[in-house]
Amino acid sequence: MPTAPDIKTPLPGPRAAALIARDRRFVSPSYTRGYPLVIARGEGSVVEDVDGNLFLDCAAGIAVNATGHSHPEVVKAIVDQAHRFLHMSGTDFYYEPQVRLAEEIAEVVPIGGEVRTFFGNSGTEAVEASVKLAKWYTKRHNMIAFLGSFHGRTMGSLSLTSSRSLQRRGFGPMLPGVYHAPYANCYRCPVGARPESCAAECLDFIEDQILVHLVSPDEVAAIVVEPIQGEGGYVVPPEGFLQRLRQLTTRHGMLLVADEVQSGMGRTGRMFAIQHTGVEPDVLATAKGIASGMPLGICAARAEVMSWPPGAHASTFGGNPVSCAAALATLDLLRRELMRNAEEVGGYMKEGLLSLQHKHPLIGDVRGRGLMLGIELVRDRQTKERATAERDAIVTGAFNKGLLLLGAGQNTIRLSPPLVFTRAQADTALKILDEVIGEQERTGR
Ligand code: PLP
Repeated sequence: MPTAPDIKTPLPGPRAAALIARDRRFVSPSYTRGYPLVIARGEGSVVEDVDGNLFLDCAAGIAVNATGHSHPEVVKAIVDQAHRFLHMSGTDFYYEPQVRLAEEIAEVVPIGGEVRTFFGNSGTEAVEASVKLAKWYTKRHNMIAFLGSFHGRTMGSLSLTSSRSLQRRGFGPMLPGVYHAPYANCYRCPVGARPESCAAECLDFIEDQILVHLVSPDEVAAIVVEPIQGEGGYVVPPEGFLQRLRQLTTRHGMLLVADEVQSGMGRTGRMFAIQHTGVEPDVLATAKGIASGMPLGICAARAEVMSWPPGAHASTFGGNPVSCAAALATLDLLRRELMRNAEEVGGYMKEGLLSLQHKHPLIGDVRGRGLMLGIELVRDRQTKERATAERDAIVTGAFNKGLLLLGAGQNTIRLSPPLVFTRAQADTALKILDEVIGEQERTGR
């Protein structure tokens, strides 16, 4: 594997600049490219751009390349399946990779008893399927989600999403009957509680406000929650939050839907982030890392819940056989070694980030599990004023030094490398972060 970073041209290099100019003319301007990376190839946690520059990847295509770029076992599974057949539509026909994957999903999701799986192509479709299933099963039509959450951009999931108002601006009206409650962000506790004595008081807002003033509990189909909030800033809720949510949903006959699109597939050191809490959801949506970069999204549920009739929900491409083959190879690698690696290297990296926090006043909070790590930047540790411009400058500065990062929330840097990340690569990432954060603190640029 090549060693990264190795930056040989000013960025963007000439080839990258030429491609970006073409992109600007012909590609939708709605995409949110933070810096000009034009990938030519990738291997493990290293990305080479079209000008021959090598980058260390802590972004993994937005937390997707779980097994690293083009893992040989995943590529082989894809090629073998591609030689057999590319598509037949699991909606109208049967094929083994889809059935086998559903069997394996039933084994790994933290849902007791019999489990069934619906196949789509993306995270948003996994959430759409969960919403439709919850409505169909409960015969209720209201939903509760959390502020700061991201569940996707199609109209159903967008109605749950409340990450940035820009994502909703111009697209209303949203799905009716969606209510938002504060998420348990202990660094910025929405109800002013203290982490030491927290009893997830923020959930009182659901019980004492939403269910009293706005919607009757017997008309709420489900509560949809990210067990770790992803796009919202890699926010880990306190012990008790998901447990209390489980009790609340059970008490009122609502379904608990875990959106593990970003936090799932081994990233946190367990297959799913909710497994750190012992809570069992009724429905689980996942995508991103599941097929190492091939498009696939799944909604898994208790068999009793997923009992809708033929024709109720389907997708022409969902559960594409090549994606299923990639997912089977991915699951094998996760179970064999990569979940353990995520836990081990993630723990090592978190220690390193906590040391950086001692050194850099700009780092207000370090949080996360496994290789799902966030650092929240603030101008002042007392006031917690968000250092948004500084975060953006640091992400760009890291890119210029050959480290790929992404932002999350208004002022958080997320570290979501491939799960093959090594300790040596973690050291390199930490060294670059130390440099760019230091430069930002010294010069304000
Ligand atoms: N749910 C969560 C938690 C996500 O993080 C995302 C994407 O970032 C989605 C859903 C939507 O996934 P996709 O972009 O594949 O539609």
